[in-house]
Order: sequence, then structure tokens, then C-alpha cells
Amino acid sequence: MQDMSESADGDRGPRVVALSWVDNAGISRVKAVPAHRLEHANRWGVGMAPVFDTFLVDDSRAGGPGFDSPVGDLRLRPDLTRLTLLAAQPGWAWAPADRYGQDGTPYAGCQRSFALRMTREAQARGIGLRMGFETEWTVEEDPRARATPAGRSGPGPAYGLARLAGSGPYLLDIAQALADQRIDLLQIHPEYETGQYEVSTAPESPVDAADTAVLVRHTLRALSARHGLLPSFAPLTTPSGAGNGGHLHLSPWRAGTNLLQGGGGPYGMTPDGEAFLAGVLDSLPALTALGCPSPASYLRLVPSQWAGAYQCWGRENREAALRLVTGGHAAPGTANAEVKCFDQAANPYLLVGAVIAAGLAGVDAGLRLPPECTGDPAAAPPATLARRGVRRLPDTLAASTGHLEESALLRRAMGDRLIDAVLAVRRGEEALLGGRTPEEIVEATRWRY
Ligand code: GLU
Ligand code: MG
Repeated sequence: MQDMSESADGDRGPRVVALSWVDNAGISRVKAVPAHRLEHANRWGVGMAPVFDTFLVDDSRAGGPGFDSPVGDLRLRPDLTRLTLLAAQPGWAWAPADRYGQDGTPYAGCQRSFALRMTREAQARGIGLRMGFETEWTVEEDPRARATPAGRSGPGPAYGLARLAGSGPYLLDIAQALADQRIDLLQIHPEYETGQYEVSTAPESPVDAADTAVLVRHTLRALSARHGLLPSFAPLTTPSGAGNGGHLHLSPWRAGTNLLQGGGGPYGMTPDGEAFLAGVLDSLPALTALGCPSPASYLRLVPSQWAGAYQCWGRENREAALRLVTGGHAAPGTANAEVKCFDQAANPYLLVGAVIAAGLAGVDAGLRLPPECTGDPAAAPPATLARRGVRRLPDTLAASTGHLEESALLRRAMGDRLIDAVLAVRRGEEALLGGRTPEEIVEATRWRY
């Protein structure tokens, strides 16, 4: 927990605390309590309706058997170990919340509890995971605000140094706010598209990584507003533009050793490190329903855009859904795998939990990786891809949902309540947006995440 005496408001400290959770459609939602009620909220929770389980991107509900009743209550309880003063919103603090039943036991549909449960499953096998999300976003000048030169992203070359001239103060405020919130910033830079940026943060435990992704995004929202900018974290912000990814970096460790380094397997992977990645690779079609959860996701997940649209792995291959990152001179401890196909419509807690479950299944089965994919799969003849077992990841939400439905592994890991809620939401989003044009899908999702 952060020292609350550091509040920008001096002695008064935070006055209101935001308790957030992320729903199965990938939307962060909130209830807030005055600071003097925080202790009470921690002990007894704050009431919330279970129907949130099947909320869709447009705030309608998918419903379905077991999810329709207006009756019932869950308790939203903050995790005070992550209580953070919001640097960009003086007087406010934030804490991620878990959902409990009224009897005080963890709720089976709680995504954050699932992530913690999977972390513990890994620990039971002596495996610790380090993870971190990349956040890509695109800003537009908010027509309702007076556009400031400081906030102006400016047209400009992809990754262009020139773009720092206009956006320097904006990016500096972001770096400062993240530092004030004890978030370990690794990189911040202009991305490919005009108005597009990226932040990456240091690896940490899976639940912390998901919490950090939520907090980073909220911090970006608040700071963008101050700079007269509207941020979008949607998979696509224009039908022909560059996508916003939500890549997940991960490394499995045992007894202080990175299992992706120092072994006898490909690029020095240890047998368990390789098996973990092979498990993730194996489950990618089903994981796509969690990491690419909106019809909008499939407008982004296309070949030759660095979105990782193929089920394959490769060292530093930005077209492989699973990119092995060995880094310059393979600095000690830094080897990791980047799951590139995921975007930020995803619930990060579901993602880290499901990726751990898939990786552990690989370890339990002693899986080996298939041969490496060394180029852009889209450029290879179909016969070559077929021979190497490289398949295109699902190209519609309906297809990935089918894979999730068939995954006994993920049903076992997530439990019926959670996976059935997710499946209801996926079918609901498909019914809501599946038949629409790309323009309409982008329009419907652009400002929602
Ligand atoms: N923006 C790309 C995406 O949609 C990724 C670019 C990169 O590799 O950083 O995932
Ligand atoms: Mg990027």
C-alpha cells in the first residue's frame, strides 16, 4: 500500500477511493467510497449485482440461464495492498477489487480471483511467473476541450523523434504520474500511427501485471483529459488505421532462475520453459477468445501488421503470435515470450489466469515446441505452412469462441460459472456487432475500453 500521507492534497489525503473491477467484455467498471468508508469496504465489501457478469460493450446484457436474475448480491472488496493515490486526480485513490459472495467466500465468477488461483497453481509446481502488459493507445484532440500545443500529437513519422516536440509535455506528465504511482515504466514512445503511443512496464507477478494494466490505462485517461485529448484503447480506432495491441510478456521462473534461459533447448530454454511456451502455443486458438474478445479485435488481428495473426513462435518474429524475446546479448534474466495477438478489449485478469493454465498444461505434459517460424507466415506458400503446422489464428469472434467452448483445459481452470459467463458475453457481442461493417464496429467500440 502506498503511504497515503504523500497525497497531493497535503494533510487531507485521499477523499474518495475508486474500487475497480474488469468485466467479461473487458470494460473496467467502478464503485467509489469516501475514504472514511474504506476500512468498512475492506471488511464487508460494497454491494454489487451479479448481473454484471454478462454486461456487453454497449452496457446491454447478454443474460442467459443463471445470469438473468435481478435478485442477489456480491461484495466488492478492495485489495489494499495495491491502494494507490491517483497522481492525475488529486483527492482520489484507487484499489483493484475482488468479488466475494455474501458469505465471504471468493465468488466463482471473479476474474481477479481466477488469476490469483492460477498463480498459486503455478507456485504449487515451484513455478513463479513474471508478466507485463504493453499499452498502446491513440489520441484525438477532444473537440470539447481547448486543444493545447502540449497535448497535440501532431502528424508525423512513425516512431518519429519529431513527434516528441509537440507531445513531450504530455508524455512527460505520463512518466511522472506513473513514477508517483510506483509503476516501473520501461519505455514510452510515439507508435506507428499519428496520435498513437505506447507505454511498457516492468515485469511483476501476474495479478500485479493485470492491476498495473488497469491503472496505467486509467492514468492515461485522466492525463489525456488534462491535455485536451481523448484516448482510445480499442483494437482499431479507424477501419484502415494501425491497431492498438495489448501484448503480454511473460517468463516462467523456478528458484530464482528464468526457465527461458540457461538450458539446453532452443535459444537456451530449459525443458519446463519450453514446455510452458508450448502449452500456451497449443491453446492459442481458445485463448484468442479471451485476448481478442470483440468483433473489433478481428479487424486488428490480420497478417503483416505485427499483430501476431498466426499460431506459431519465432525468435524476435513480430508476425508470430508467440515472439521469443532474448534481448541484446541475452541480458541475465530478461528472456521472455511476448504474446502478440492480444488486444486491450481483453480482461487482463482472465488473460493472465488462462495463459498460466495453458502453460502449466504444457509443463504437465512435457510438451516440446514445434520448429520455429522464421519469417512472415503470410509470405509463405500455404503448403509450407501446412507442412509446418502453422495455422492462422481464428479470424472471427465466432470461431475463437468455438475453440474456447471446446477447451476442456480452460473450462477446468476457469470453472463453469466463469467460463459460461465469458461464453455468454462472446455470443452476445457476436450477436450485437458480428454482422456490422468494419466502420460500424469501430464506431461502436472506439471509446469503450
Ligand atoms: N500496433 C501493433 C498491434 O496492433 C503492434 C506494434 C508493435 O509490435 O509494437 O499489435
Ligand atoms: Mg508497439
